[in-house]
Amino acid sequence: MNGKNAGCHQSVVSIDGVFFFYEQKKVIDDLCFDILERDFVGLVGSNGAGKTTLLRMMVGLLKPSQGQIKLFGEPVGGFRDWDLVGYVPQKNSLNPLFPATVKEVVLSGLYGKKKMFRRLTKADYQKCEDAMRSMSIEDLADRRIGQLSGGQQQRVFLARALINNPRLLILDEPTVGIDARTQADFFQLIRHMHQHHHITFVMVTHDLDMLQSYLGNEPVQACGGLKFFVKHTHEPEDCLETNLTHSLQL
Ligand code: ADP
Repeated sequence: MNGKNAGCHQSVVSIDGVFFFYEQKKVIDDLCFDILERDFVGLVGSNGAGKTTLLRMMVGLLKPSQGQIKLFGEPVGGFRDWDLVGYVPQKNSLNPLFPATVKEVVLSGLYGKKKMFRRLTKADYQKCEDAMRSMSIEDLADRRIGQLSGGQQQRVFLARALINNPRLLILDEPTVGIDARTQADFFQLIRHMHQHHHITFVMVTHDLDMLQSYLGNEPVQACGGLKFFVKHTHEPEDCLETNLTHSLQL
């Protein structure tokens, strides 16, 4: 499979009859939902509704108790093309003494399971530069990530998720713990990436105002406590930018 060259209507995530239980507790109840190439899906729900559980199933960290999830047409269990998927898990504030530099954190996005011990190449460092530039953090490259502000750290984690030039970006509450001004900048950045880059987004957020201003007021689907807001952007002429090698215009 080569998802990187696929057309704009390709199924990116297909969720078919999915249930999830933690022991006896049912968290996801018969969810069916399809995400197409270049959709922007905003996932909303109260605490404990199962949002993180659903994202973790999408990236293969949890297995559905019943039903199936496919990524780019492949069941998640057999999916191998993880370069196509960027995942930014929920943020925990980093210890200021956390020793890794920004550059090291971004480069660590290249380490798939198999690539862990291979040497980094010139091309890898170029990808790192491109990802940092796309998030305007190249000046922070040698700073320790623990010393950065929450907003800067989020940009670093986004750059880490972008280093493989993914086709699907999954963000779990990316603006938690960030001040309102930085949140607004972050949303603008995400909107730009959705509108001008060939990326499908799934984002969990509690910021309904920001979400609805982009995705509209009505969820397209609800399942238990989960609500899905969606913006479709399938016009082929919109699918122009497929790499990160230019700076984002904000
Ligand atoms: P959300 O992201 O919407 O806040 P989660 O997916 O984190 O919700 O959790 C859904 C429900 O599952 C919650 O009631 C939570 O307490 C429970 N839960 C989450 N992780 C575990 C776990 N590892 N073991 C048992 N219950 C869990």
